[in-house]
Amino acid sequence: MPAGLRAAGIYILLLKIMFWRYEKMSIFEKMDFYGHEELVFARDEETGLKAIIAIHDTTLGPALGGTRMWNYESEEDALYDVLRLSRGMSLKNAGCGLKNGGGKAVIIGDPRKLKNEAFFKAYGRFIESLAGRYYTAEDVNINTQDIAYMQETTKYVTGTREIGGNPSPYTARGTFMGIKAGIKEKFGADTAEGLTVVVQGLGSVGYMVAKLLHDEGAILKVYDINPDAVKRAVEEFGATPLNADEVLTAECDIFAPCALGAVINSGNAKALKCKIVGGCANNVLVDPQTGEELEERGILYLPDYIINAGGVINCGEEIVTKPYDASKVTEKVDKIYDTTLNIIHYAKDKGITTYEAADHYAMDIIKAGRA
Ligand code: NAD
Repeated sequence: MPAGLRAAGIYILLLKIMFWRYEKMSIFEKMDFYGHEELVFARDEETGLKAIIAIHDTTLGPALGGTRMWNYESEEDALYDVLRLSRGMSLKNAGCGLKNGGGKAVIIGDPRKLKNEAFFKAYGRFIESLAGRYYTAEDVNINTQDIAYMQETTKYVTGTREIGGNPSPYTARGTFMGIKAGIKEKFGADTAEGLTVVVQGLGSVGYMVAKLLHDEGAILKVYDINPDAVKRAVEEFGATPLNADEVLTAECDIFAPCALGAVINSGNAKALKCKIVGGCANNVLVDPQTGEELEERGILYLPDYIINAGGVINCGEEIVTKPYDASKVTEKVDKIYDTTLNIIHYAKDKGITTYEAADHYAMDIIKAGRA
């Protein structure tokens, strides 16, 4: 059996053992496993609200992370989601220089059936009862109206001052700055001029990333499942449209995944014809092994949760800077350039992948905060 396949087999087996062990753990053991400080189960009989709020780590400041609403198949699934997402927020917030710890909340249930004013006011009261240890914001299935209801019963809500209630411009700017750091490292250049970039996904963030790259003189190749989004990029940026099966294999300098997560795995990593992978999508790589494969192929991976942190940086700024100052947010979002370069250099120093380096870099910041 080829060595690569054997390694992949061993890795999958280890994952299965880990997951099997995780499933057998008690709640406190699970909290130990991820390193959580506090887990709150909230229930309101009148409105049918059921929520879990996970405060992972408050070393750097109050926990910050959005509320997700999902019709989970089981409470166990909801718990798994909130534990792993809140830990991810500790790393993201620390990595992008926020004075915030990590937290996340999940509301269990069908958003179409349960959402109303009383429901979110009840939820807001639970957030308020934590007295500022956790700040929430929008996430999947939670919109600005829901946030406005929460604000009637809690002051610990953020992300309310974004441009038109939309974090995408900050996320796009941060992603662009991260890509520019990659360009500096890989090509020694200060702009994207003359470089070919494949943008996968031209939604709220992807479209703006494409525009920023185009404005700097990049040559764009694009794909979106929505033909109108592609048409717009072709008309406005002179982009070359790609087919679904070309998007991962097209010749380019930079591949920017801005649609879905988990787009690159051990199988398709071999087919990439780029020098840099970096976009706004979350969890771009399926696993750490894919990070190693990119490294072996000389492809620079820009850690997703660092370069897509513009939205959360805006939320963090809203908490600490009174009155809110949009220029300060932009200043901080632009620091994603330096942070990305720091992580690339950290990876080189330690002989690890940039995928792993982001976690180590963020953990070092949290540990230093504890000292
Ligand atoms: P969006 O829904 O506005 O855009 C997603 C786009 O991807 C749409 O145009 C959609 O048609 C396209 N798409 C869907 N499936 C596709 C596929 N298989 N191939 C190509 N295109 C496809 O979302 P968004 O807000 O732009 O976010 C994009 C990604 O960035 C998501 O993964 C999101 O989790 C992540 N992200 C967004 C933010 C933010 O501020 N919006 C912050 C951090 C991370």
